[in-house]
Amino acid sequence: MEFRQCEACRQPFRPRPRNPDQCFCSAAACQRERRRRWQAAKRQSDPDYRENQKRAQKAWAERHPDYWRTYRDQHPEYVARNRARQRERAPAPTGVAKMDAWMVEITVISAGCASP
Ligand SMILES: [Zn+2]
Repeated sequence: MEFRQCEACRQPFRPRPRNPDQCFCSAAACQRERRRRWQAAKRQSDPDYRENQKRAQKAWAERHPDYWRTYRDQHPEYVARNRARQRERAPAPTGVAKMDAWMVEITVISAGCASP
């Protein structure tokens, strides 16, 4: 069987006989990358999958309310990196910091008002 180049680590590998179309070597990191790419494509193309993932993650987060607080306490470099990235994203009109922000124009209409 011929050698192939892994799409993640670029190292040559021999595809498994039962999976002749194999594009990633069997290293754990490369299999994680394969899974990550598959999930990203699935989220893009399948609204049901995207919705289901969102629900599952929300349910998990509700069962583990302290997870992110603990993670941030134990990973100060993550907090610093995230703050820096949020600052970069903030001025962009499509930044993720305030995806639900609305631009509202308020017009005052005073008709039939008794007091001046
Ligand atoms: Zn690899």
